[in-house]
Amino acid sequence: MTIPYGRQDINEQDIQAVVDVLKSDWLTQGPTIPRFEEAVASHCGGKYAIAVTNATSALHIACLALGVGPGDVVWTSPNTFVASSNCALYCGATVDFVDIDARTYNMSVEKLREKLVLAESKGRLPKVVIPVHFAGQSCEMREIKALADQYGFRIIEDASHAIGGRYLGEPVGNCRYSDIVIFSFHPVKIITTAEGGMAVTNNPELDVRLRLFRSHGITRDTELMVGKSAGAWDYEQIALGYNYRMTDIHAALGVSQMNRLEEFCERRRALAARYNEALKDLPIGLPWQHPDTESSFHLYPIRCLGSNASDGRRAVFDKLRAVDIIVNVHYRPVHTQPYYQKLGFAVGDFPVAEQFYSQAISIPMFAALSDDSAITVINAISSAVRG
Ligand SMILES: *Cc1c(COP(=O)(O)O)cnc(C)c1O
Repeated sequence: MTIPYGRQDINEQDIQAVVDVLKSDWLTQGPTIPRFEEAVASHCGGKYAIAVTNATSALHIACLALGVGPGDVVWTSPNTFVASSNCALYCGATVDFVDIDARTYNMSVEKLREKLVLAESKGRLPKVVIPVHFAGQSCEMREIKALADQYGFRIIEDASHAIGGRYLGEPVGNCRYSDIVIFSFHPVKIITTAEGGMAVTNNPELDVRLRLFRSHGITRDTELMVGKSAGAWDYEQIALGYNYRMTDIHAALGVSQMNRLEEFCERRRALAARYNEALKDLPIGLPWQHPDTESSFHLYPIRCLGSNASDGRRAVFDKLRAVDIIVNVHYRPVHTQPYYQKLGFAVGDFPVAEQFYSQAISIPMFAALSDDSAITVINAISSAVRG
């Protein structure tokens, strides 16, 4: 039996929720989308939630809603999935990265501060910064927000890994330290809708803009229409938007999964505690937790500290895969991707992210992972790193 690094957990209630929608009058824009939006908004304590096709489209319309366009600069972390930076390129903006903190693997506040000082002197300050809550652990948002106030940039939190996580005692997603927070509901993430994403904001104007960009730039709201409505059939296109709408089928799965969010996160934290204890004496780095955070543990990244071919990352990775433990690596730093190298980035630009990448392995971490499987994983890692 193979053990993946992550997978969904779908129960009979989840299945029934989807079946109910299939038998109902609406498959696309019915009553289930607003129910899912309300479930996410009330969980995180954010005012407005906008459901979309996936986190990638959420990031895209978040940038558009903040007015990102040609000539603008957007910064994010190199230790992320490519979508966190591609969203700025979609808008014609320029992307740059801020190296990570060696302990949290999140965007370093110190490096951000240094880079802002330099950027200000060159007149090239970023319009938007996108911190990424790697593995489910929040970035140091209070400090990043203070810099945003000082230097005048806006913040999109890429919380694709972090629904159910907490920061300074409050849920990730309440937008206390940012303009927009985005979530992903891909099957490996904390909860799933198959494909799916959400943008959350407390700003009513951003809410309007996000909804416009989600659906072709079209509105039926007479308050927003430029001219006078010709009748109940009439709508106006007032911006260039996309079709990024979620379906009611996906939203039904989302509503049902939201009922299980606490249970999922508790299980993930219990597994993390178990790994912390069982792996602590091995020559590997374990995911350090900042005292201000409570991670949702989307990932449990270990670092292989041995430098020999026999105990280095590649060797440990191969040994685990050979016994059907399908570990993975998160992330090859975005700036080392061929597409980004063509944009002018080079290996060596963000050394902390590159060092982390050279050592990292994401070991199995998901709510449905059984205690027996966790023991199998622990034993396999112990024998792999001991050679
Ligand atoms: C998964 C992920 C995304 C993209 O999510 P999709 O829903 O698959 O579009 C973006 N950013 C990060 C950090 C992710 O892990």
